Amino acid sequence: MKIGILGNGQLGQMLADSVTDLTDLEIRLYDLRAHSDDALETFIAGVDLLGYETENIPAHIVAKLEAHADKLFPSLTALKTFQNRLLEKNALRAAGIQTADFCAVNSLEDVHNAVETLGLPIVLKTTTEGYDGKGQYVLRQPEDAEPAWEAIGNRELIAEAFVTFSRETSVIASRDRNGNLVVWPMTENVHHEGILRYSLFPADGLSADKAEQAERYIRQLADSLDYVGTITLELFDTDSGLVANEVAPRVHNSGHWSIEGAEASQFRNHILAMAGKALEPTTARYPAVAMLNVIGDETPAVKAESTANAHRHSYGKEARPARKLGHVTVVADSVAERDQTITELSELMPSGVWPPQAH
Ligand code: AMP
Repeated sequence: MKIGILGNGQLGQMLADSVTDLTDLEIRLYDLRAHSDDALETFIAGVDLLGYETENIPAHIVAKLEAHADKLFPSLTALKTFQNRLLEKNALRAAGIQTADFCAVNSLEDVHNAVETLGLPIVLKTTTEGYDGKGQYVLRQPEDAEPAWEAIGNRELIAEAFVTFSRETSVIASRDRNGNLVVWPMTENVHHEGILRYSLFPADGLSADKAEQAERYIRQLADSLDYVGTITLELFDTDSGLVANEVAPRVHNSGHWSIEGAEASQFRNHILAMAGKALEPTTARYPAVAMLNVIGDETPAVKAESTANAHRHSYGKEARPARKLGHVTVVADSVAERDQTITELSELMPSGVWPPQAH
């Protein structure tokens, strides 16, 4: 069976790498940056199933997928829903999942109205193409409305009430074609300047109630869309439970730890789900695991090669500031051992990012 993935970045590569032992599956990657209509049609004609490593697929390419919706997993509906923050928030609410209050913003007047309805502060975001904190503006006072609209507006935006959270977490699941769902243990995720720097399993002190809430949420969401594949739900950890921030209809950076850290990785189960095969267990293989991103410069990652309980992944990309070039997975027999190894590798992070703030 030939499976085509739109996008040939590190996610596509790790999807392909996850099933090299399954000789009945062949994974092909399509370079979205070298797109032409002919190249896409040829690519699609040559595969049995079609997937994507990113939801940031330009509208003119998504339009081409309409005619091939029957071989697209996750579905065209899922792709379109999670490409747009307004549709995404509506889908979350429809599935019974707690989110920040929000409203659509299409003009400067709407920004003022949002301030009235939601109160300050509010987070203004572009509805499409925003990632790693790009296309966002936090309004703290009514006078911020105009500069905010100037900076990211003149297009459709969403205004969200500001959520006060103690930390960010995510939950990742895979759902197969028969509706069976497997969920990985949650991680705590620490960002710096809008970019994920590291993820920790277990998330320190996460209550059983919140873990159950996360599992319930992702099941409700995946079931509501008859979703097939791996799906990620990013959640704010707040005093009043978990609040959904955003969804990725795909494998996610906060799940890279699962390659070495879990029985089956998020990549492998994504492909298995697409292919109509049975999903594999998601249980952690170690008591404690961490994933550290390698960003902008790979030099500090070299040390991980001589660190006994660390695994270095290099994506073979040219170095550029703020670019994800690889990641390091730390596996450990205890949280203390995990944290000691992270401290040894902490040159990978800007100062002050490790250890996480107490919560
Ligand atoms: P996003 O691209 O939606 O994941 O947002 C990037 C980051 O902005 C998140 O990881 C949060 O740290 C922060 N953020 C986003 N939305 C909100 C919100 N409604 N309230 C508070 N912080 C937010």
